[in-house]
Amino acid sequence: MRVAGYPDSYYAATAQGLHEYPRLDSKARADVCVIGGGFTGLSAALSLAELGFNVVVLEAERIGFGASGRCGGLIGSGQRKDVLEMEELFGYERSRVLWDLAEAAKTEIRNRVRKHAIDCDLQEGQLVGIHTPRYLGWAAELATALNERYDYPHTRSLSHEEVRSLVATDRFIEGFWDSHALTLHPLNFTLGLARAAREAGVRIFENSRVTGYTRSDPVTVSTAEGSVEAAFVVLGCNGYLGKLESRVAGRIMPINNFMIATEPLGRERAYELIRGRFGIHDTRFVVNYFRLSDDHRLLFGGGENYRAGFPSDIRGFVRPYMLKLFPQLGDVNIDYWWGGTLAVTVNRLPHLGRLKPNLYFAQGYSGHGISTAVIAGKLVAEAINGNPERFDVMADMPIHLFPGGTLLRYPGMVLGMLYYSLKDRL
Ligand SMILES: Cc1cc2nc3c(=O)[nH]c(=O)nc-3n(C[C@H](O)[C@H](O)[C@H](O)COP(=O)(O)OP(=O)(O)OC[C@H]3O[C@@H](n4cnc5c(N)ncnc54)[C@H](O)[C@@H]3O)c2cc1C
Repeated sequence: MRVAGYPDSYYAATAQGLHEYPRLDSKARADVCVIGGGFTGLSAALSLAELGFNVVVLEAERIGFGASGRCGGLIGSGQRKDVLEMEELFGYERSRVLWDLAEAAKTEIRNRVRKHAIDCDLQEGQLVGIHTPRYLGWAAELATALNERYDYPHTRSLSHEEVRSLVATDRFIEGFWDSHALTLHPLNFTLGLARAAREAGVRIFENSRVTGYTRSDPVTVSTAEGSVEAAFVVLGCNGYLGKLESRVAGRIMPINNFMIATEPLGRERAYELIRGRFGIHDTRFVVNYFRLSDDHRLLFGGGENYRAGFPSDIRGFVRPYMLKLFPQLGDVNIDYWWGGTLAVTVNRLPHLGRLKPNLYFAQGYSGHGISTAVIAGKLVAEAINGNPERFDVMADMPIHLFPGGTLLRYPGMVLGMLYYSLKDRL
């Protein structure tokens, strides 16, 4: 089933609670104008409304049109880099604070789902499949660190045999299990956040692309047919930012990632493939990630490109990645295929900050965007409400300009990405 305004994805076909929001066609006023209707923008808007702010959300397309409505739905624990790397970068104390913020993100997601009764198939558990001897021993070291230094006793390393008993592929030589990681239906979670925001008094406008805003106080945010005068602006456009804000564009690189959904496999075949509803990803640079849907399909993400535009045959592009892991699925039809755009930073840490006291942004979650975007939105709200401490911890992470900045970042980045994805294949 096609849903107007959304890519033809499995998520759109199984969307719950779609709601058509109006287009902005007049002059409005608000305390805060949020640009972007994904996890970042909606989490910020909802948290701000709960704090008593009068909020407008402007979305260029439909709610969840961006990565939030298209992504894999895997919510890993911690930041994008594991605590072993974070300790090397920042030392234990800061790594611990950032770990705790990531745990707060998972709690926020669970609480939102419960409080607003969001029907988004929230499930627990994640397995990391180790694909190369380079990572042998990593799972055990990480599980020990989390248990001993982070009060997180929910992970353990898995032997090849244990992994094989959970996932029917021979490709993983070891594994890492996290029983408190999560998965969800990302579009339904996004739509649920939007409903909750609406119910909390947020005015949401779809098909209302922001064309620019003034650098004044208050700010005037313009769309083709209307405008919003607001004391604060929050930018939550991530990989879809385009040319809207050149002052932050040079620190992120938009990249495209792709997914497929098989036909329903039937309960028995699905559970022969994966013994549960947990999420799985591997340790490749261009990561493969997958899980079962509640109607027993395999939802599989793999492959990315680094240019404007998707491959003409997304199904043909992603399917070989799936067959490499699961050659036994050669006879299975692919019912849906789609792509989305996310933003990565040079060091894969998220990029949060203020361009002016009244202009906040959060972006660059580098493939770890569900939990990070949700907590980023909440922290922006806290900061606007006068409590910037937790926001500043995230905003203090060093995020470098891509070589070449906004205009010339592509060639070097693309070469780098291609180098690492080639290493995957070797
Ligand atoms: C295929 C894919 C798989 C992924 N898998 C995972 C995963 O399994 N786990 C995970 O944690 N992360 C994953 N990610 C990353 C994650 O989806 C993103 O980091 C996250 O959704 C970002 O949320 P966001 O709200 O910041 O941005 P988005 O959801 O991209 O939303 C930005 C919104 O801003 C709007 N916008 C842009 N410009 C304007 C404008 N001028 N005016 C008004 N609106 C505008 C866009 O239309 C868009 O709706 C994946 C991403 C992709 C693409």
